[in-house]
Amino acid sequence: MCSNKKKKEKEKQKILEQFERFAACLFPQYKRLNYQSAIQADTSKHKASTYFGSHRTWYIDAWFDCEQCGKEFCWTVQEQQCWFEQLHFWIDAYPKSCPDCRKNRRRKREKCNRLNNDYASLAKIAILRSTDLKTKQQALELINEIEQLSEEPLTRGIVEKREILLRQIEKMKSS
Ligand SMILES: [Zn+2]
Repeated sequence: MCSNKKKKEKEKQKILEQFERFAACLFPQYKRLNYQSAIQADTSKHKASTYFGSHRTWYIDAWFDCEQCGKEFCWTVQEQQCWFEQLHFWIDAYPKSCPDCRKNRRRKREKCNRLNNDYASLAKIAILRSTDLKTKQQALELINEIEQLSEEPLTRGIVEKREILLRQIEKMKSS
């Protein structure tokens, strides 16, 4: 019993040593790993990567610094299992920001998508030719809000449209 346990312990140690060699590419920029948390991955559920020859055969609690807020966070084995076995993310994926920052970004993106849809339906009624001041102001507000929330800059078309809108609104207000 005791020697069996020792043998198992030795086997585990060997696997962990192998794992450490892969850790640098599977967990780039990790601060530390908790080997005690290691669980074996079901690689049959993984999305194969041609870039990484080897599969992520283990999940292990790994700590990173968030690129956005700088806070330290743990990427848990449960999360890794979910990412690769349920959501089928690329096997070399790893989180660059903490759960809170990821959640905030997701919320921002969702809100931005909603605003873009609102703007698209408003744009259908030819905002520039509209004689309604309120419609023009609404469009202008939407553009400004999208600019604040979006991770990408506004397209040139929308920037030009905003300039025209601003001029039109000023003219309408002064007349
Ligand atoms: Zn963060």
